[in-house]
Amino acid sequence: MSALLEVDKVEAGYGAVQVLWGCDMVVNKGETVLLLGVNGAGKTTLLRTLVGLQPCRGGAIRLAGEDVTGLGPDARIRRGMAYMSELGVFPTLSIAENLRLGAYGASNAEARRRAEAMYQMFPALAQKRRSAAGSLSGGQRKMLGLAKALMSGAEMIFMDEPSSGLAPVFVTQVIETLKGVIGGGTSLLIAEQNIAFLELADRGYLMDHGKMAVSGTRAELESSDAVRRAYFGVG
Ligand code: ATP
Repeated sequence: MSALLEVDKVEAGYGAVQVLWGCDMVVNKGETVLLLGVNGAGKTTLLRTLVGLQPCRGGAIRLAGEDVTGLGPDARIRRGMAYMSELGVFPTLSIAENLRLGAYGASNAEARRRAEAMYQMFPALAQKRRSAAGSLSGGQRKMLGLAKALMSGAEMIFMDEPSSGLAPVFVTQVIETLKGVIGGGTSLLIAEQNIAFLELADRGYLMDHGKMAVSGTRAELESSDAVRRAYFGVG
């Protein structure tokens, strides 16, 4: 398998506070990788650093072999990264308009083709394509965020806490939706506190106090004492 994203001893922080301490990570082409960690472990900071929203103070970030450490978020997006956050969905715009914005840089014909593919994948969005995104349920809004990230045609999608703020039934819905995306060639890095997302992952990492405490396959994480301690207070 060839590496798409390589994270090499990355350091980052806020002012005098260092948050990330030499983080190493690899995401291979087409792989789904889960970044686990309790509240405050540094997951959001790492994702924001990887997409260029937060300065990288040490180490290196490579995408498809190219060093992108010094590039801004726009240049990283042009090279195939997409960051899915709820803030990226505009509540007053329709679902169709939100999707069109996701495909910026693509021709109208190409954007329409991609939108039709999204409506096939997310039938709930197809039914409401002319409605304002603000009228969607929490779970549907996450789906729109994901569809918008996919509209960009990005090879490497970063998802920060897709389960946040959702009732358990919607978390299940998001997990089921993601199953439909996985295997299509896109690489996913999902930061989550919710261990239920482990079922989607090929591999994963457990972050603890800004360091990678554990890395391994899904099965290795499932049987890891450190993961059990972090999540269940046992082990
Ligand atoms: P969560 O699940 O709550 O998002 P997380 O694992 O994503 O947690 P981060 O949000 O990356 O963790 O936070 C890591 C550390 O950085 C925490 O100690 C947090 O208080 C600190 N931190 C986060 N944002 C800032 C900021 N803007 N200024 C100062 N410190 C911050």
